[in-house]
Amino acid sequence: LFVTFEGPDGSGKTTQIRKLAEELEKRGLPYVLTREPGGTEISDKIRAIILNPDNLRMADKTEILLYAASRSQHVEEKIQAALEEGKIVLCDRFVDASIAYQGYGLKQPIEMIRNINRFATGGLSPDRTYLFDVSPETGRSRMKGRSGPEAGVTRNAGDLDRIEQRALAYHVRVREGFLSLYRENRQRILLVNGENQPETVFNTVLADFDSVLKF
Ligand code: C5P
Ligand code: MG
Repeated sequence: LFVTFEGPDGSGKTTQIRKLAEELEKRGLPYVLTREPGGTEISDKIRAIILNPDNLRMADKTEILLYAASRSQHVEEKIQAALEEGKIVLCDRFVDASIAYQGYGLKQPIEMIRNINRFATGGLSPDRTYLFDVSPETGRSRMKGRSGPEAGVTRNAGDLDRIEQRALAYHVRVREGFLSLYRENRQRILLVNGENQPETVFNTVLADFDSVLKF
């Protein structure tokens, strides 16, 4: 079972994926918790290049290809293997993020991004996706309140990475991109209101996850 968590920065997806992992841990269900960009040693090195605020000159096409490069390594080295072992894979971001951020956010051709990612993932698609929606204002204020530097990316508490630093209009397009993806994939994607309290949000996720498990 391949489950992805998506949404704008500051939507709370990382908090939610951790809660679900804790729950699986308690139940003794075999799972792997992973994230993008990153998830393997090589992918984490690519992540550091993508997010480094010094790399402001990175071309949009380079950004698309680096995400896809990180993802192909991640699928081949980690996700595919875990799925073959029958584990539940919980992944923080996947192809939807590339469509929302690079497609809608950067206004790059969406069909091309889909094709590049089909090649990168061998066509792997999530069984279920939780999409956390928050207003760009909520997202921004949560991002700034976040604490702690991140491995491989030079930053201090409250500092934004190269992509988070982009203008509000960019983040508005990203959010709209996620909502369009939802409208096109209602069977796969569950839209969750990320403005609510974390416990409330988690109850929604867990109830849905349990029904997916039974199915
Ligand atoms: O999920 P997380 O917020 O850690 O993602 C790291 C950064 O990568 C974020 O700033 C996010 O906006 C960005 N990102 C992106 N395109 C993707 C995936 C993530 O711009 N396809
Ligand atoms: Mg982020």
